[in-house]
Amino acid sequence: MKIKTTLTMLTLALAGTFTTAAANAETHEQTDREKPIALVIHGGAGTITRANLSEEQEAAYHAKLEQALQAGYAVLEQGGSSTDAVISAIQVMEDSPLFNAGKGAVYTWDGEHELDASIMDGATGNAGAVAGVKTVKSPIELARTIMDKSVHVMLSGDGAAQFAQQQGLAEVDNSYFDTDHRYQQLIDAKETIRKSEQPEQQAWRYLDLDYKYGTVGAVALDQSGNLSAGTSTGGMTAKRYGRIGDSPIIGAGTWADNNSCGVSATGHGEYFIRYHVAADICARVKYQNQTVEEAGDAVIHGVLEQAGGTGGVIIMDAQGHIATPFNTEGMYRGYIRNGKVHTAIYKDED
Ligand code: ASP
Repeated sequence: MKIKTTLTMLTLALAGTFTTAAANAETHEQTDREKPIALVIHGGAGTITRANLSEEQEAAYHAKLEQALQAGYAVLEQGGSSTDAVISAIQVMEDSPLFNAGKGAVYTWDGEHELDASIMDGATGNAGAVAGVKTVKSPIELARTIMDKSVHVMLSGDGAAQFAQQQGLAEVDNSYFDTDHRYQQLIDAKETIRKSEQPEQQAWRYLDLDYKYGTVGAVALDQSGNLSAGTSTGGMTAKRYGRIGDSPIIGAGTWADNNSCGVSATGHGEYFIRYHVAADICARVKYQNQTVEEAGDAVIHGVLEQAGGTGGVIIMDAQGHIATPFNTEGMYRGYIRNGKVHTAIYKDED
């Protein structure tokens, strides 16, 4: 039964790229391979529609997603670990102003950038996370360094920055993360909140209607059959000083377990924390024998939607089955498997 639902899931996941017959052939090729390797990424979810993006912007997103996929996949092909592949893919997106991570991160209400990231190794259950750093060039690298070189799982603020310095990680001025379009988003968000004449908590609901999240994430499966997942973000535009979202919370924004799946999330973080979205999806795979698509749909279109939470996830299990559910207009996303790259932006694309 699980085989049947898995086939259905892959057929659905690949619809739009392949015919049904071709998708099933792809399924067999995938599951028959002795050591499948694969990588799935996202660059954020939200109100992303064709009306909102020019052709040039569309092309730029596709190109950058593909570059990130190729960077991570090269690591996997050379026999590198899933953790190294996740880092490589995410760093391409952190370095790009297109995404809300690293360069191009959103602004806090006070006009600064505070970055969060996390990574989890599905073979060992080890994890590293960082919250609220302002001067670390690659937050995902710091999360990995915390996982590998400290006795802790999560560091925040000044203590995290100090640890990064001690470990020799690249440091930048906070203004390195500046971009004009994110600054404009801050101005617009403040305007929306002010105009709503509601207390802050209510005002955020108005903001949510037109929100483009933009966090980045990756899940990789390496030649040893190990999964890793990672997420990096600037958080949410106009967030309060000190606010921490789901991205650095293990179980909320990131999760990986070889016995179930790997997940990276993007969306309104407060909901992803409250419903421990990433871990919930993998728990359904592990304990209820659900496919990644069934589990992802149940949480993103069921639990999260009912609660009023918006966003999406990328999911992959240890056989390389992939699902990318989201309940927003769009989600920048892509995967590479058997050397074939697929990238997508809008709801109707797969
Ligand atoms: N989930 C992130 C946060 O709440 C935002 C995003 O996905 O862009 O911090």
